[in-house]
Amino acid sequence: MIPKNHPRYESLILREKIKKAFCEGYLADSGLIAHGRGEAFDYLIGEKTIATACESIKAAVAALILAKNPVISVNGNSVALVMDDIVSLSKVLNVKIEINLFYRTNERVKIIKNLFKRRGVCVLGSDEDELLFIDGIESPRSTASKEGIYSADLVLVSLEDGDRTEILVNSGKKVIAIDLNPLSRTAQMANITIVDNIIRAIPLMIKIANELKEKDEKSLKKIIANFSNEKNLKESLESIELK
Ligand code: ATP
Repeated sequence: MIPKNHPRYESLILREKIKKAFCEGYLADSGLIAHGRGEAFDYLIGEKTIATACESIKAAVAALILAKNPVISVNGNSVALVMDDIVSLSKVLNVKIEINLFYRTNERVKIIKNLFKRRGVCVLGSDEDELLFIDGIESPRSTASKEGIYSADLVLVSLEDGDRTEILVNSGKKVIAIDLNPLSRTAQMANITIVDNIIRAIPLMIKIANELKEKDEKSLKKIIANFSNEKNLKESLESIELK
């Protein structure tokens, strides 16, 4: 039991969630390492949503509203930390959810699918769906469901690996990435990168989605046109102060 007055209480609670997901068998051991890398970057940005992330969140939500077949890709870490918020975001924006695991096993996919099912949500990406290889790249890294990521024009990824982001980008899809490390290959390759912790980014996306849903197409397109990922990443890096 972590005492509430512990100076690192929030961070330790997140570790507990990640550990629990590992013990429940749906988070791979490498997911623990990925979480640690994120923690370090979160520490450096002050464990708060920085101004540049607010900008990219607005552009990301506008893009999700305008997309024809947007999909939220989930993995063990995102499910462990923000499953309920992901469900809420998908409902607000009417976006599909697809399980996409770096270390894919049938068992992990099954557990995650059931976690969503218990919340009344049907997710794509299990073996029950038709799984195809994006652009014919026959690697377990590039499987995608026909209805979901395979035919998506926009994919929201978090804690994603650079190789898979590259596969998505090269196949002509727009990619929104939530990644605390502005220097990661995923952050650099995505069209819109949100340099923030998913535990803060997704709830803020829900709030912004409720606001932007009322806007017309022209205003949404303007938000996207005024956004530069290169500039945003540069400014995000400047927020990381090594004192
Ligand atoms: P790439 O291949 O894109 O360079 P990587 O190999 O550095 O990525 P991984 O360890 O595969 O990264 O994935 C973890 C990424 O997710 C890291 O960039 C890490 O900073 C980020 N990350 C970890 N936890 C979170 C979190 N809670 N919210 C947002 N990003 C996170």
